[in-house]
Parts: sequence; structure tokens; C-alpha cells
Amino acid sequence: MDDCLFCKIISGDIPADKVFENKRLLAFRDINPAAPTHILIIPKIHISTLNELEQKHNELVGELVRTASELAKQEGIAEAGYRTGFNCNEAGGQTVFHIHLHLMGGRTFGWPPG
Ligand code: 5GP
Ligand code: ZN
Repeated sequence: MDDCLFCKIISGDIPADKVFENKRLLAFRDINPAAPTHILIIPKIHISTLNELEQKHNELVGELVRTASELAKQEGIAEAGYRTGFNCNEAGGQTVFHIHLHLMGGRTFGWPPG
């Protein structure tokens, strides 16, 4: 999608600190990290919000979550624990409308989140 920030990161028009990439997914460090480790994992196809997910995306979403789990191990935060989350639309705090899974670790998180 032409005016999507994360599509521009996928195409290479905007640089990012990439930590993982395959044919379907890209993971890169958040530009404004909310924790010592803060990685965003995104599908390479443009999906605006979780509301647009369909059954055909099940495998892709599973791979997103599995990738978060693998990256947590790679980052050395798996044993201590970490937070993952998708924000959806305004009340959920979504600011970039291309779905992304936040992987955050390296500190202790409160619950419920603000
Ligand atoms: P959201 O609020 O939509 O759940 O999360 C969007 C995230 O994207 C935020 O944590 C924000 O810091 C991050 N972000 C926004 N613009 C950029 C950018 O240009 N590069 C990178 N790496 N992260 C970005
Ligand atoms: Zn996009």
C-alpha cells in the first residue's frame, strides 16, 4: 500500500534495523523503544488492523506469534519473560495501520497496561 509506513519499510524505501526476514514476515526494532528489547513483527502483505483478518490468514498469524517466541529466545529475554501485543484501532492505541506484533522485554511490565 503506497502511503503505509510499514509497507515502505518492507520495500526498503524507509530504513529499519531489521532482526529477521523471510518471504512472509519482517521483524525490526521499534524506533521509539518502550523497553530495552522492543521489536515489531509484521506480515509483508498489507493488513490494516486485526479487524481485517480472515481465515486465510490463520497460518500467517501463527507464524507471527511463533517468530516472536523465537526472537525472544534470540534476544535472551525468553526465560525472564516478555510482553507481546497487537494494538487495534484508536482505543487500542494503534498508530500505524499495518498490523504488527510488539515484542518487548528486558524489564518488568505492569498489568493491566495503561
Ligand atoms: P502502534 O502504536 O501502532 O501499536 O505501534 C506503532 C509502533 O511503530 C510504535 O511503537 C512506534 O514507535 C513505531 N514506529 C513508528 N514509526 C516508526 C518507524 O519509522 N520506524 C520504526 N522502526 N518504528 C516506528
Ligand atoms: Zn502496509
